[in-house]
Amino acid sequence: MEVLFLGTGATLPSRKRNVSSTAVILDESILLFDCGEGTQRQLMLAGCSYMKVRWIALSHFHGDHVLGVPGLVQSMQFSGRKEELTFFGPGGRSGLTHFLKSLQAAGLLNNTFPIRAVEMHDKTTHTADMGKFTLTAVDSEHNTPSVAFRLQEKERPGKFHPGRAHKLGIPSGPLFSRLQKGMSITVNRRRITPEMVMGPPRAGYSVGYAVDTRPTANIVKLMSKVSVLVFDSTFDSGLRTKAIETKHSTCVEAAVTAKQATAGRLYLTHISGRYDDISVLRDQAREIFPSTFVARDFLRYALRK
Ligand SMILES: [Zn+2]
Ligand SMILES: [Zn+2]
Repeated sequence: MEVLFLGTGATLPSRKRNVSSTAVILDESILLFDCGEGTQRQLMLAGCSYMKVRWIALSHFHGDHVLGVPGLVQSMQFSGRKEELTFFGPGGRSGLTHFLKSLQAAGLLNNTFPIRAVEMHDKTTHTADMGKFTLTAVDSEHNTPSVAFRLQEKERPGKFHPGRAHKLGIPSGPLFSRLQKGMSITVNRRRITPEMVMGPPRAGYSVGYAVDTRPTANIVKLMSKVSVLVFDSTFDSGLRTKAIETKHSTCVEAAVTAKQATAGRLYLTHISGRYDDISVLRDQAREIFPSTFVARDFLRYALRK
């Protein structure tokens, strides 16, 4: 499970930063948080096949977060894709279904493979089941309907204790792996269950994504103990009034959110083009939340190799 930043700039692409997209690489599949213009090319430059994208979670429908969708879908069609592609995003009158239908009406989404839309409705939390992972959303606070997401790996089995197993007379080898896979075994006519040799289940890893939003109590709740939080940091704390006006956040507000949520680490993203030197954002945020990093295009962070 790895986070790969594909676009970390606010509003307009620049030579340094593309517009919003953050990929989470899950085994053989990829989930994209947002898909700004040029995201498919960013994936190629990062050495990832766009054909592996199975899920696209859109925070809202401003161009810098979604204009990469038609191009990406068209490339998938040209490359002969057959597998389903699932979109998540805010619901409502100008929500996800409306967005996809508009692309279709403009001839930009000729379905040669199945496309599924899962709307995350207002004022509710949805958990979409994705096999080993779940995706949950809550409303965020922007100047258009928007959501924040949390991708959560399900509980992982506890740690295996070989010492305990040996004490129970279990020889090293295939019986160990049966227990590690959650199966019970019988040794010397005694039934051994996995719980007898394994520790308690371990929490899975998680990635939170909240961009183009003011900080809110709902977002803090959603991000409780998240392993990695990716948060809007369009401005530094000196421009807080501007952040309030445009419904964005400052680096300090991002850090306060990470601290309140007791996140593992914080990545600042959606960086305004005015910051050629990002040290001001990093330093202000680190005073509140030391595990803060400023994202840049193509930066990777592996939660588990
Ligand atoms: Zn934006
Ligand atoms: Zn926006």
